[in-house]
Amino acid sequence: MLKRILVPWAMPKIGREVLARSRVEVTFLHGPKGELPALEELMEATRKADVLLPRGTQAVPKKVMMVNPNLRGIANYGVGYDNIDVVFATQLGIPVTNTPGVLTETTADLAWALLMATARKIPQSHNYTLSGEWKGPGGKSFMGQDIGLGGSNRPKVLGIIGFGRIGQAVMRRSRGFRMKVVAYDPYVKEIIEKTRGVEYRELQDLLRESDFVTLHCPLTRETHHLIGSKELDLMKPTAILINTSRGPVVDEKELVSALKKGKIAGAGLDVYEKEPKLASGLSTLENVILLPHIGSATDDTRGQMAVVAAKNAIAMLRGKKPKNIVNPEVFESPEYLRKLK
Ligand code: NAD
Repeated sequence: MLKRILVPWAMPKIGREVLARSRVEVTFLHGPKGELPALEELMEATRKADVLLPRGTQAVPKKVMMVNPNLRGIANYGVGYDNIDVVFATQLGIPVTNTPGVLTETTADLAWALLMATARKIPQSHNYTLSGEWKGPGGKSFMGQDIGLGGSNRPKVLGIIGFGRIGQAVMRRSRGFRMKVVAYDPYVKEIIEKTRGVEYRELQDLLRESDFVTLHCPLTRETHHLIGSKELDLMKPTAILINTSRGPVVDEKELVSALKKGKIAGAGLDVYEKEPKLASGLSTLENVILLPHIGSATDDTRGQMAVVAAKNAIAMLRGKKPKNIVNPEVFESPEYLRKLK
């Protein structure tokens, strides 16, 4: 029987070409402007699919996985896979893959751009320049925070939470600014300690010491609301929080409150707890910069993510081990082995 890959979103052309060259049957399911299908439509289409290739932010609920007992894999387009209950997928014998590496530098670029834009109030100043309010000397001066040594000649402290691929790429960008770098990541403490110019800190110490806190951990049960009111209270009133990881890592309601009360100086966010909704009060704050989840959004990078996801999907379709498996234990499970027969 012909095997089929379901792509329920508008995949970049280069990824579609990889699928086309492999001569597998592919079903694309999305609206004319790339709108994602409703849950019922996704379930109906998954019934007839052998491998699902969702967008990284497209929820694949248990209902969808359960609809087809022969589902051979889920090839996520994204490095984060919190949109999929991987434990449940493993129980059902479904391998799950992601797209690590190809988006590291692009996402680190965005995190760094957001850090600089938030510190120096770039969009606020841009809007003011265009508004006609600027009448020359004596106008609003948009006082910001130094990133480099600045007038105080003090190295600023960059606190990195999650010292994986993207966290380390952000660390490399800070070098030219002569910052002091501290990092918290309980899973790679030794790597942090061995990295030149980076010091390990426990979370609370990092929050107390940092001028900039940047989040690069995955969203897990453990990192949900990792930054809440207690943590925001520990930060300096001059500190800036940058989040390009996943929205629920930060308690957004508490963040709005901290920003309103001046507990921290500003926040630059690319991700939100309930995308595309923003927490009440967030959009009217003057000390935030809000981006619509564009961390990996360059043509080259999104294209390569599509290529990686397509190759993972094809491998799973053919019953082979894909390159970027996140639940390798699944290959030993009787549920998975049954599907290969
Ligand atoms: P990675 O796996 O290389 O790094 C994640 C690091 O976080 C690991 O070192 C891990 O040990 C650490 N970590 C796990 N739990 C932690 C905890 N409780 N506290 C501190 N650190 C913890 O992943 P990556 O490629 O660097 O990507 C990181 C995350 O960035 C992804 O999971 C994804 O959610 C997010 N991301 C967002 C965008 C975007 O568009 N905004 C783009 C790419 C990735």
